[in-house]
Amino acid sequence: MSAKRVLVTGGSGFIGSHLCERLLSDGADVLCVDNFYSGEKRNVSHLLSNSRFEILRHDITLPLYVEVDEIYHLACPASPVHYQKDSVRTMKTCFYGAVNMLDLALRTGAKILFSSTSEVYGDPKEHPQNESYWGNVNPVGIRSCYDEGKRASESLFFDYHRQYRIPIKVARIFNTYGPRMHPNDGRVVSNFIVQALENRDITVYGDGSQTRSFCYVDDLVCALIALMNDTGNDFTGPVNLGNPAEFTIIELAKKVIEMTDSSSEIVFKALPQDDPSRRKPDISLAKSALNWMPRVSLDEGLEKTVQYFTVGIGG
Ligand code: UDP
Repeated sequence: MSAKRVLVTGGSGFIGSHLCERLLSDGADVLCVDNFYSGEKRNVSHLLSNSRFEILRHDITLPLYVEVDEIYHLACPASPVHYQKDSVRTMKTCFYGAVNMLDLALRTGAKILFSSTSEVYGDPKEHPQNESYWGNVNPVGIRSCYDEGKRASESLFFDYHRQYRIPIKVARIFNTYGPRMHPNDGRVVSNFIVQALENRDITVYGDGSQTRSFCYVDDLVCALIALMNDTGNDFTGPVNLGNPAEFTIIELAKKVIEMTDSSSEIVFKALPQDDPSRRKPDISLAKSALNWMPRVSLDEGLEKTVQYFTVGIGG
């Protein structure tokens, strides 16, 4: 039997590159599509010698004509710094990207998985967040290009599913971290680690009492694969994927300082507009439907991430 042909949009991004790697090791033919707006070639350069791996520079706001069996649709700048840099483009990437990938799925009969986000819950009034919560999103704020873009994409996925019966899987991904995070994307884990390794001030926004729940990238990739491979097309999601262990940002800062044995000081900066105050996934659905749960603790995952940035900064 010939290998499964899998398209990963945003395949040279942080999560995408780990997914491509895992799909190749599972025996798939992988087509990585990226426009390198926030993804980086070096994230997948080690895969180029594999004859089952292909890379195509393409912007998914334009239609794509390829033959594939499965589509992991990840492409979109995902950190606030990146998605706010050109917010109009972010919304276009979300909306036109979803249309183009859904049309591709319709034409080829491919199963399609969409990487949505915990941002669809906005600044949540329910805690922890489960999939039946509709969210509390500012529709005209500086995060809305991403939040509302992803919400519109989710709508499109479900409309294509209802109207054209295409098999869809919608994952709501919570904060994920690990090697190959972009050092300049402003994410809290990469920011703190880079600052600590360089003994610079650790920038805590607000008073640091806001919380996040951090999932190590390998756990997340396992969940995406389990979701795509879930038999039958009845389970569409949306399903929360993340690690429910919740930490305040100040706790994270202290952990990183201790782990890196850094002389950095914590400094407090203004809290960005619409920054969610609490975030923690309820993952009961992922556990029951996918038989998945995260395995890597924050300490363990941070060690590996620190290691990655230590090598990067040192060399
Ligand atoms: N944050 C911070 N210092 C930084 C970067 C981020 O205190 O240098 C805070 C940010 O305000 C937010 C949390 O860390 O409350 C997570 O931010 P991130 O951008 O990583 O992800 P998101 O806000 O999308 O969850």
